[in-house]
Amino acid sequence: MTLFPDFVPNRIGGVEPPRGTTAVIDVVNPHDASILAAVPRSGAGEIDTAVAAARMAQPGWAATPGVQRGEVLHRIANLIEARKDDLARIVALEAGKRLPDAQGEAAAAIQCARFFAGEGQRLFGRTTTSGMALRWAMTVRRPCGVAGLIIAANTPAPNFAWKVFPALICGNGVVLKTAEDTPVSSWFLARLCEEAGLPTGVLNVVHGLGAEAGQALVEHPDVDVLSFTGSTRVGRMIAEVAGRQLKKVSLELGGKNPLVVCDDADLDNAVRWATLAAFSNAGQRCAAASRIIVFDSVYDAFVAKLVAAVDGLKLGVEPDCDLGPVINARQLANMLAAIERAKAEGAEIVCGGRRAASPDLAAGFYLQPTVVAGVAPDAEMSRTELFGPITTLYRVADFEAAVALANNTPYGLTAAIHTRDVDRALTFASRVRSGVATLNGGTHGSEPHMPFGGVKASGNGTREPGTEALDVYSELQDVYLNVRLPL
Ligand code: NAD
Repeated sequence: MTLFPDFVPNRIGGVEPPRGTTAVIDVVNPHDASILAAVPRSGAGEIDTAVAAARMAQPGWAATPGVQRGEVLHRIANLIEARKDDLARIVALEAGKRLPDAQGEAAAAIQCARFFAGEGQRLFGRTTTSGMALRWAMTVRRPCGVAGLIIAANTPAPNFAWKVFPALICGNGVVLKTAEDTPVSSWFLARLCEEAGLPTGVLNVVHGLGAEAGQALVEHPDVDVLSFTGSTRVGRMIAEVAGRQLKKVSLELGGKNPLVVCDDADLDNAVRWATLAAFSNAGQRCAAASRIIVFDSVYDAFVAKLVAAVDGLKLGVEPDCDLGPVINARQLANMLAAIERAKAEGAEIVCGGRRAASPDLAAGFYLQPTVVAGVAPDAEMSRTELFGPITTLYRVADFEAAVALANNTPYGLTAAIHTRDVDRALTFASRVRSGVATLNGGTHGSEPHMPFGGVKASGNGTREPGTEALDVYSELQDVYLNVRLPL
């Protein structure tokens, strides 16, 4: 049995229009560049139909009590659980991942669905006092209306879950523009949602390019809230449109995340986490440790251990491999070009720096895990997010210099410090400008019940998921009750 058809359609109002109405985009397996499927290259027309379907279905969904919406989400979680192996196989193919990693992502999507299913029994507002006698004051959460969601390709199942489930539990209709490199898993998940009992039209999935379908969704006047996960460059454009239209918008953007290794760090632990944080998912994580800042006194010892660890990493998608390919040929070319420019400016390539050497990987978009040293803090490689398996090393004299360098970036998503000194760790957390600070671990995103997001160019101040995501997908309404006591 095939996992998905050769043509993976849009899903709009429960209908899947057949091939032939639009041009198509090929979905390519990054592991070997083979074509897996085609999806429609949708435009403004398809987005318009999807927004209309969401608008039509939304009032009925909003009128469904929150507890019952939660029960639908519980059924969705159960069905994803039952089909988790298929979901993982789809993700592994379309994103070029090891199956265990894809299984971990399916598990994260299920956890997220369960968390927001439970929110159906809460969706707390608050009650408070009033300045007037015999008056009750409270806030209640109302749906925004239609949510336009746009996601990145790097972790397709959690990216879907983080936006779709909080949007649904709040009672919104949804139009999701899939990531063009990994659209199949979103289509598969949307089908499961309806099979589990989500009314048709509440969740609509449209495939297409960012500049076409994505832009049309952002500009659509009947979309009430936008949530975007992707690059800071595109996030700025979306914020401009949303600003003109006074549309609510949540932006989860890029990072250039520092991992600091102090003179008192457990170096083996620091190396383990630096390697994972820089190279897992082939470095295609907004939270990737792309800047490793090491105290001078332990620099040589740390780098020797890091090089040994990175040299031992195995490329490929078999279960015993450590990192797979980057998502597409364009990204691979971007990485190689950035390395060449850094070399031309005098950078030293400590590890990697080239395409994978093995002939079995020659067709895929594989870059060796790459460690670069001798890059100035204001050089392109220090300041630009690359979103691939490349990290840079910096040598600093002390804690002050480490904090200054950690903060010397346009971004502020995540940060980590390795030290045995709790005062130093807490001082770092309070002084580093980032949405997440981690002690003795990797730079990473959040668990499904925790809020994630960044400062500076990493976002616009919103947080998803966690209960904080409810603030993105609902509007607070004040309700006042004036009570007349019987005479
Ligand atoms: P990208 O910005 O190119 O694309 C992301 C999505 O936006 C895709 O679906 C794309 O089709 C769409 N898009 C592109 N142009 C658009 C436009 N003009 N209008 C509307 N939509 C448009 O990003 P990418 O390279 O696919 O993903 C990597 C980026 O995502 C990195 O910067 C990474 O840090 C970021 N990211 C952030 C988080 C987070 O939670 N902060 C999580 C994952 C990825």
